[in-house]
Amino acid sequence: MIDLAQDSHRRYNPLTREWVLVSPGRIARPWQGRIEAPALIESSAYDPKCHMCPGNVRVSGTQNPKYSATFVFDNDFPAMKPNTSDGMIEVKELLVVRGEPGICRVVCFSPKHNLRLPRMGQPTLRGVLDVLAEQHAQLGALPWVNYVLPLENSGAAMGAGNPHPHCQIWANGNLPNAPSRELTSFGTYLRSHGSCMLCDYLKLELKRRERIICENEFFVAVVPFWAVWPFEALVIGKKHKSGFANLIASERDALAEILIKLTTRYDNLFRTPFPYSMGYHCAPTDGAAHPEWHFHAHFCAPLLRSVTVRKFQAGYEMFGTPQRDITPEVAEKQLRDVQQWHYLDDAPK
Ligand SMILES: [Zn+2]
Ligand SMILES: [Zn+2]
Ligand SMILES: [Zn+2]
Repeated sequence: MIDLAQDSHRRYNPLTREWVLVSPGRIARPWQGRIEAPALIESSAYDPKCHMCPGNVRVSGTQNPKYSATFVFDNDFPAMKPNTSDGMIEVKELLVVRGEPGICRVVCFSPKHNLRLPRMGQPTLRGVLDVLAEQHAQLGALPWVNYVLPLENSGAAMGAGNPHPHCQIWANGNLPNAPSRELTSFGTYLRSHGSCMLCDYLKLELKRRERIICENEFFVAVVPFWAVWPFEALVIGKKHKSGFANLIASERDALAEILIKLTTRYDNLFRTPFPYSMGYHCAPTDGAAHPEWHFHAHFCAPLLRSVTVRKFQAGYEMFGTPQRDITPEVAEKQLRDVQQWHYLDDAPK
């Protein structure tokens, strides 16, 4: 028998249909690699140099309004533009090109330059989620937009270009690779089992309770069995919903609460603003009903041993298979065992 806590083994990800190599003993190896600088914890609520703060002028020359809640603007340096041709070029099936029109927006969570998601408070975050839902519906309704992806890079270690808490929304016609793979997986599972893959997976996790970080009435945060990143998490709705559009008010409140609970635990793990990349996977907006799709959010959290040592996906991960050093069960236990309130709220000693 394989001992999942001791022996190296592969785990299958039914969403991507790929494998991850788990190497439980490897965490003991000496580390002489890159050491990250600990992130600065305190900053002020307004930064005159920040191009996202209220009233400031952006690089494009546009002045931000003196906004008092969530603020949305079109990215000044978008990766895709709406008026691009969607024409094709194809040479012998080897040089294949397709134009990619799209819309990229930036959503500043709040006017406060230093108000990160775990510190936001549920009503404020609920307001942000309402804006995301509204944006998702508005962009998804455009006839040529078939996928809308809200995502957040938090912390310089995960590529955030500006520390002002914000997320982005990318909308375009072709399904991006990750949701495209998931759509196939969800569809195949529904056809062969007559049920939803994530509904079934969540039932298993709730019964076994080996990887559940936290939960509330409507949502569960779990370290997925097939996690690649050290403290990867999947936020899954307990009800089968396809996206923001059909979450009722109490479910949006619960989503805000679980996101704060999860990111608070991240911060508490190494008592630092924990960097992460997260994305919301809603059903495509291509006009089809998509009964196979189950709304969820992914968190990729890269810190491994401490504030200063992170996991890189390089070498074997790039040329072989993604690999992880601590088991998902050990990661879950660490996240579950930390205190529930944020470390910045600790009473001064
Ligand atoms: Zn700012
Ligand atoms: Zn489902
Ligand atoms: Zn997904």
